[in-house]
Amino acid sequence: MKICTIVGARPQFIKASAVSHAIDATDGIEEVLVHTGQHYDANMSDVFFDELKLRRPNYNLEIGGGPHGQMTGQQLIRIEDVLTNERPDAVLVYGDTNSTLAGALAAAKLHMKVAHVEAGLRSFNRRMPEEINRILTDHVSDWLFAPTQFAMDMLEKEGLSDRSLHLVGDVMYDVALEIAASRGERTDPRTLLALDNAPLVLATIHRQENTDDPSRLTEIFGALIELAGRYTVVIPLHPRLKGERREVIDALPGANRLTFTDPLGFGLMADLVADAELVVTDSGGVQKEAFFHKTRCVTVRDETEWQELVESGWNRLPDSISRSAVLAAVEQQLVANPAHGFEPYGDGASAGKIVELLKQAA
Ligand code: UDP
Repeated sequence: MKICTIVGARPQFIKASAVSHAIDATDGIEEVLVHTGQHYDANMSDVFFDELKLRRPNYNLEIGGGPHGQMTGQQLIRIEDVLTNERPDAVLVYGDTNSTLAGALAAAKLHMKVAHVEAGLRSFNRRMPEEINRILTDHVSDWLFAPTQFAMDMLEKEGLSDRSLHLVGDVMYDVALEIAASRGERTDPRTLLALDNAPLVLATIHRQENTDDPSRLTEIFGALIELAGRYTVVIPLHPRLKGERREVIDALPGANRLTFTDPLGFGLMADLVADAELVVTDSGGVQKEAFFHKTRCVTVRDETEWQELVESGWNRLPDSISRSAVLAAVEQQLVANPAHGFEPYGDGASAGKIVELLKQAA
């Protein structure tokens, strides 16, 4: 069986590493890896291939940047060429980026089978590019691998029960368990980043609805600056916060109290999440990683796809995206007492289940 995997963005390298290792451990399956180039900086791409021992891409399409339509369209054209050339038995896509949609659409139009890992997530906010990508990808996919019961229910509600639909758990949980197990091999994050001994808050902001709206950006960073009086607030900066957007942040009074870093490697990031008193984020993956490493989280968005974490008390959404509402959510979350013994993301062996299901169908 030949599988063609399409990746392009940071969270996809992380998710694909788990499944790729499971493919390597299974006889009779060959994987061809296509990197669209959506994320191309070394610290957004190469570092994950090295750290997570992901195979080098067989194809690097070098299509990053530009507006959504242009990026997705160029990826579609190039992926179609690759798939026509490789003739795989299945095309494997992850999550909700433009690379996911371009890969799924190219494959479906060539009558190739599409497998979607992290199927069924919904924010119910169609203004998010990710929501459009995930809905369309689910609807052209043959295999739908859902991470949670909520995702399974959504796929059934949308009439996709006739597809090969499976609740397999979350591959990011597989990766989180592995990286936590190797913690002893890494230098302490406080030493690596020369941090003081104040308690830690880790923050990541990259969602377009926040970065492209100066008012939301100002409110969120205003709250983080306020917190920096009591905590060391570490912020690994996503490339989307370069240039003008960074200038908005730097102009805020007290911005120099924040500790900015370049995007971090996966192990260092995991250790910071684990050591933090609180995570403040708009990332999908980081919300879950906070839970995996037993750190409470505030998600600075109007909604979340990972509703089970809000219900169990591990995550909280502010009432609005204003400085005072974010701070109020932070204060509540710092004293929250989330549910323990709650395992909504499977057993840490999702990748193996996905590969087994693909192989059975071959
Ligand atoms: N991540 C990382 N270094 C960083 C920031 C994030 O390794 O500096 C990891 C993070 O631990 C998670 C993934 O990148 O596994 C999440 O990616 P991102 O927030 O870019 O995307 P999303 O999950 O929102 O799609």
